[in-house]
Amino acid sequence: MKYYSLTTPSHKVSFQQAVVSGLAPDGGLYMPEHLPVLSKEFISQLPVLSKEDIGFTIARLFIDESVSDKTLYEIVRETIDFDFPLVALEENVYALELFHGPTLAFKDVGARFLARILQHIAKTIHQEITVLVATSGDTGSAAAHGFYNVEGIRVVILYPSGMVSALQEKQFATLGKNIQAIKIAGTFDDCQQLVKQAFQDEELRKTKFLTSANSINIARLIPQSFYYFFAWLQLSTPKHVVFSVPSGNFGNLTAGVLAKKMGLPIDAFVAATNVNDVVPEYLHTKVFKPRASTQTISNAMDVGNPSNFPRLLALYDNDWDYISKEIYGYAFTDAETRMAMLDVFNQKKYVLDPHGAVGYLGLKKYLGRNPDAQGIFLETAHPSKFPDVVESAIQQPISIHPSLAELANKQIQSLSCTSNFSDFKNLLMKH
Ligand SMILES: *Cc1c(COP(=O)(O)O)cnc(C)c1O
Repeated sequence: MKYYSLTTPSHKVSFQQAVVSGLAPDGGLYMPEHLPVLSKEFISQLPVLSKEDIGFTIARLFIDESVSDKTLYEIVRETIDFDFPLVALEENVYALELFHGPTLAFKDVGARFLARILQHIAKTIHQEITVLVATSGDTGSAAAHGFYNVEGIRVVILYPSGMVSALQEKQFATLGKNIQAIKIAGTFDDCQQLVKQAFQDEELRKTKFLTSANSINIARLIPQSFYYFFAWLQLSTPKHVVFSVPSGNFGNLTAGVLAKKMGLPIDAFVAATNVNDVVPEYLHTKVFKPRASTQTISNAMDVGNPSNFPRLLALYDNDWDYISKEIYGYAFTDAETRMAMLDVFNQKKYVLDPHGAVGYLGLKKYLGRNPDAQGIFLETAHPSKFPDVVESAIQQPISIHPSLAELANKQIQSLSCTSNFSDFKNLLMKH
């Protein structure tokens, strides 16, 4: 399987190259050359297969023989080494809990897979790989834990001083070993700028093998399609299945569409967003108008120009009539999101996180029009990652997940740096 650039389709590269470079030289996203389809027999066997077998079978379709069966199976096994429970909330309303990994959010799945794929590549090319990550919070912690202790990989996380929550900082800046956090005296944009400049620096590129772990990497997307299968097979009689996906950069939803295209019987998707609703707007008006993002309580979805949107469109042949038949876009305000959290808590004693709550709302809206569907919404993070928002919404104290409580005693081990590129480069060369 080769990967082509969405900007210049004639530009094709191997899986390994697509992973290492992240984006094509022309700035385009990499897409698989063709979409593999699973056999009907495989789909009918889903309920008796292990999740490792399912994940391996899917990954095998996308990844060439540069990764052996044995290695790939092991990578899959380690990536999904936690539960993906489907929790029934109401008739035909299920929560797919994606927060049982080490950083309590679905981003663990992509980060763990990418880390292990890069480890394999580092071994093959006999060279240490340095992964640069600019973060405003969540990406840093998923990458730090995903790559922690992974041989042959060094991770450098850049974050804006004073603009990351104390809890988030502790999640990625206390690990040590192969994970180095650098606090930048500047903004998130400065951090991203430093990463960009590093990639363009001749000397750095000669001495270090640099790559990035941001969400446009195709190796983060592939494993995210696994859990649509895991959810589906947990339904006792899967029929008219619809997934509601709380979305920001639309990686998760794109992975769901991949699962459908591979043959998983899914009727439709809901693209559920907060007020950063450029995709729902596109689905209603045919006009895609990126804009600056607005801050909300579901802040991991505060995206004004979703990076995976071109991939999503490509999966629907850039055809509005086609995509709008399968994806329904709904957007919700913070007030509606808080109300949903309160309602679900009062009626079901289930605590939604603010992102999952947007997914729940999207699903309810869809079911209002299609009452025969069986609906699953993605619960993308553990509620205790957002204690202030959740406690004020449900008017109750919540218990903090033990892995977050543990962080209180850990020491921050960041280095500090200005936002000046030569300072940053010196630091990078020294360590
Ligand atoms: C990143 C994130 C999202 C959005 O996912 P996309 O794939 O970017 O659409 C939703 N919820 C949480 C908790 C996240 O961290």
